[in-house]
Amino acid sequence: MNRKPSIFVTRRLPDPAMAILAEHCTVSLWDNAEIPIPRDELLRGVAEAEGLLCLITDRIDAEVIAAAPRLRAVSIMAVGYDNIDREALAARGITLTNTPDVLTETTADLAWALLLAAARRVVEGHKLIERGGWGPWHPLQMVGQDIYGRVLGVVGAGRIGQAVLRRGRGFGMRLLYHNRRPNPALEAELGATYRSLNDLLAESDAVIVTAPLTAETRGMFGAAQFALMKPTSIFVNVARGPLVREDELVAALRAGRPWAAGLDVFEREPIGPDHPLLTLPNVVLTPHIGSASVATRVRMATLAAENLVAVLSGKPTPHVVR
Ligand code: NAP
Repeated sequence: MNRKPSIFVTRRLPDPAMAILAEHCTVSLWDNAEIPIPRDELLRGVAEAEGLLCLITDRIDAEVIAAAPRLRAVSIMAVGYDNIDREALAARGITLTNTPDVLTETTADLAWALLLAAARRVVEGHKLIERGGWGPWHPLQMVGQDIYGRVLGVVGAGRIGQAVLRRGRGFGMRLLYHNRRPNPALEAELGATYRSLNDLLAESDAVIVTAPLTAETRGMFGAAQFALMKPTSIFVNVARGPLVREDELVAALRAGRPWAAGLDVFEREPIGPDHPLLTLPNVVLTPHIGSASVATRVRMATLAAENLVAVLSGKPTPHVVR
């Protein structure tokens, strides 16, 4: 009988992921649903591991890799892997896998939820009723911005960004996108037009950010970029918080350009109730729940488990990060 490889899992995952792992591997686990694994437990946990299944809350850096002399495979239950030191993995020939595609539509739905909520002041309206502030109807009460028929600009039009654009067609929108380079196939399929970042910001009524966090995109949106936006435009970030200079976004929102923002991700997560963004009426915030539907989280966990088992048993998986 073949020996089962040892793996470490940094959080109990939804079924059937744990069953898949247990069938093929000897599993050690940080078995606490609420609290991310403390650093010392992580360093201890990987000591014997040939495989590691981790989450976006785990910083997998050179220290962790050095603490794991037998490590051959890292599987992250996410599509983004900016919390992982890929150079440290590559130096040891350790394979990294992620979970693209299965979360694309769910994350695009949340981007649209934030866009519509920010544009139409949904949360502000809810709070108004909650505090007993809903008075007699009047013509300009709680007026917001239209989305239907306007211009949608997506920054980072990959899997999620294209799903966001596709929804924009149903809203009769003119579609713009910005990547590092134009994508003719995307243009042919969606009828979207390429713009430089500055032109996209100036022309769009809604800007949705879905680019990965890299050295190039860190701090991509600051005062200079917000100053280019229309005073009626909505800014949405469902990518990663550090793409945005948050203090500059707060100042821009306070000054009314952009008109409002919807944010699922933040520079340092989790944020607390004293965060400056919460002093603004024109923001809608969610706690990094882009992929958080029941079905999608199960699909992500299952895929992360399957990826790890495949790599450790020398089988191909299309989800190796290159
Ligand atoms: P993807 O398919 O790789 O798409 C990323 C897109 O960004 C690509 O089209 C890429 O095009 C573009 N891009 C890369 N660098 C860029 C730059 N410097 N400037 C402009 N565009 C750039 O990835 P995905 O599956 O759509 O996921 C995107 C990101 O969403 C993930 O990395 C993750 O951080 C985030 N995410 C968040 C949540 C959440 O819970 N909020 C959930 C899922 C994913 P080019 O290569 O042509 O530039």
